[in-house]
Amino acid sequence: MKKEFVVIGLGRFGASVCKELHRLGHQVLAIDIKEEKVNAVLDYSEKAVIADASREEVLKSLGVGNFDYAVVAIGDNMQANIMCTLLLKELGMENVWVKAQDANHKKVLAKIGADRVIQPEYDMGIRAANQMQSGKLQEY
Ligand code: ATP
Repeated sequence: MKKEFVVIGLGRFGASVCKELHRLGHQVLAIDIKEEKVNAVLDYSEKAVIADASREEVLKSLGVGNFDYAVVAIGDNMQANIMCTLLLKELGMENVWVKAQDANHKKVLAKIGADRVIQPEYDMGIRAANQMQSGKLQEY
């Protein structure tokens, strides 16, 4: 079934999530504070917006609270990442997936209600180790 996703932060991780969701046939609202990042996903999103997603009025005006899933992929700016996550939960979103920088960041995100916390390099390292152990080397 087609779902509505909002992807916030369009670095390598966020842009990749955005493109894959689009390829799978879902509707994606893409948000980034930088114009060039937004331009890069214009062909892979229903709507792409240049905005600061750590501001409540921005999220409200885009109707983000009604989406099925949110992906917070803001990286270096941990304050914006946390604020955005908090606001999405306050808006009542039930599926907020957030990219964390490290274990402490992950703890904070879990405390404020993030539904799933992802540490891409760490998670992928564990996955790779397990796949190598079970002999799935051909996948690489
Ligand atoms: P990646 O590894 O996915 O490339 P990264 O961990 O290096 O990303 P950043 O590049 O710092 O993370 O952030 C990801 C994106 O989030 C950037 O494109 C940045 O412009 C965007 N971003 C940062 N702050 C905000 C904000 N307040 N609102 C919207 N987007 C933001």
